[in-house]
Amino acid sequence: MEQFQELLSANPLLLLAYLFGSVTFIMGLKMLSHPDSARKGNLIAAAGMIVAIFATIFLYEYKEEGQPVKLHNYVWIFGGLLLGTIMGWMAAKKVQMTAMPEMVSLFNGMGGACAMLISLIEFRNDSVPPTGKMIIIVLGMIIGTVSFAGSIVAWGKLAGKVKDRTIPGGQMINFALFAGIIGLSIAVIGHFVPDMPYLFYGILALAAMYGILFVMPIGGADMPVVISLLNSFTGVAAAFGGFLYNNPVMLTGGILVGSAGTILTILMCTAMNRSLKNVLIGSFGAQAATGGGSGKEQGHYKEISLTDSAVLLAYAEKVIIIPGYGLAVAQAQHICHELEKVLEEKGVEVLYGIHPVAGRMPGHMNVLLAEADVPYDKLLEMEDANDQMSTTNVVLILGANDVVNPAAKDDPSSPIYGMPILEVEKADHVIVNKRSMKPGYAGIENDLFFKPKTSMLFGDAKKVLQEMVTELKQL
Ligand code: NDP
Repeated sequence: MEQFQELLSANPLLLLAYLFGSVTFIMGLKMLSHPDSARKGNLIAAAGMIVAIFATIFLYEYKEEGQPVKLHNYVWIFGGLLLGTIMGWMAAKKVQMTAMPEMVSLFNGMGGACAMLISLIEFRNDSVPPTGKMIIIVLGMIIGTVSFAGSIVAWGKLAGKVKDRTIPGGQMINFALFAGIIGLSIAVIGHFVPDMPYLFYGILALAAMYGILFVMPIGGADMPVVISLLNSFTGVAAAFGGFLYNNPVMLTGGILVGSAGTILTILMCTAMNRSLKNVLIGSFGAQAATGGGSGKEQGHYKEISLTDSAVLLAYAEKVIIIPGYGLAVAQAQHICHELEKVLEEKGVEVLYGIHPVAGRMPGHMNVLLAEADVPYDKLLEMEDANDQMSTTNVVLILGANDVVNPAAKDDPSSPIYGMPILEVEKADHVIVNKRSMKPGYAGIENDLFFKPKTSMLFGDAKKVLQEMVTELKQL
C-alpha cells in the first residue's frame, strides 16, 4: 500500500495507465468467455497492454544515486520490441489454424522464459538481496523455468516432433529433482552458503530438467490438462515479476492468467474425470506410449456411400454432429455449417455435441464453429448432448475419434479409461467420417467403428461435406 501511494504521488499518470491496463485485462478476460465477444475482448486487452508498455517506457522512473532517472536505452528497448513484434506478427499470420495449439504452447513458454530471465537479471543486479526479495526471485525463476521447459516439450509433442516417453524410474527422478530444488532454494534464500551464484544456477538447471521430465511421459488424452497447468504457471511466474518491480499491471495480468489457468486446469480434470495428481503421475502416457488399447480382435467395419449417408440424414428428425480434430485439419467448418442449413431447410433439427477436449486446445471446437457463424445455442455441452442421444436418429462424427471411443467407459485396460465420452451409441445410427482406420491423438483403436450401428464414410471431411451438400440439394 505504501509503495502504491508512493507511485501515486510520484507518477500519477503512470499509475493511471497501469489502472487502465488492469481494467482492460479484466474486461478482455470476461469477454473471452463468449465466442461472440471474444475477438473484441482480445483487442481490448491488447490495447491495454500497449498502453501499459508505452507508459512504462516513457513514464517509469527509477532511482540512480538518489536521483529519479527515466529509461533511456531506447535502442535496445525499441530494437527488442520491433524484433518481437515482427516475429510474433509473422508467426501469427503464417500459422495454420490446426497448428494454433503448438503456437499457444510456444508463446506460453516464452512467457515462462521472460519470468526466468527477470529473476536471473535481478539476482545478478543484487547478488545478496534481502530474504523477501530473494524468495520472489527464486520462486519466479523456478516456476518460470518449469513453465518454459515444459511448454517447449508440450509444443514438440503437439507438433509431433517429440514422442511420449516413459523414463524408467521417472517418478523417482522427478521426486529427487523436486527435493533438490527445495533444498537448494532454502540454502539460497536463507543465505546459508557463501557461494550463492552456483547454487542459484543449480536451481535453474534442476527446474529445467524437472519441466522436461514432468511433461515428457504425459500423453494419451491428458495433454489438455498439462497445457492449461503450464499456462497457469506462466501467469504465477509473471505475477512474481510484478511483485519484484512493484508493477501493478504486471501483477494483475499475472494473477489473471494464473487464476484463469488454474480454473481451466480444474475444469479439464473434471471433464476428463481425472485427478491432477493422477495426470501428473503420467499413467496415461505410460500406456499410450506402448500402444494402449484393448488389443483384442476388432472384427469388421461397415462402409456407407455418400448417397446413402445423405438419404439417412435428409430423412432424420434429429441429427447431432460431433466435430473433432479432423474437422479443424480439413478446415471444413464453413461447409459443415452449410450442411446444417441445408438439413434444416428439409425440416431436420441439427445440433452439435461438443466434447471439452475435442481438437487440440481448450475450446477448439467452439472457436472453429464460431468462425463459421454456427449459432452458439446449437452447441451442446457433452452432458446435454448425451441426454439427447437416445432421441437422435443420426449422429454424424466429423474427424473425431478419442472423444467418442467407448473404451473410455468399457475397457479398464484402456489408457483413456475413465474419460467421459460422447455416448453416440445411444442414437439410432452413427456415421463416422475420417480418412482411414488410423487412431486419433491417444494412439489407440476405437471399438465404435466396429459396432453394428456404425457406418464408416471415408474421405477428407471438407470434400465429403461438399459432396454431401450437393447430394442433399438434389434430394
Ligand atoms: P482425435 O485426435 O482423437 O482424432 C481425430 C481424427 O480425425 C483422426 O482419427 C483422423 O483420422 C481424423 N482426421 C484427420 N484429418 C482429417 C481430415 N482431413 N478429414 C477427416 N478426418 C480427419 O481427435 P478428437 O477431437 O476426437 O480428440 C482430441 C484428442 O486430442 C484427445 O485425445 C485429447 O485429449 C487430445 N488433446 C486435446 C487437447 C485440447 O486441449 N483439446 C490438447 C492436446 C491433446 P484419419 O487420419 O483416419 O483421417
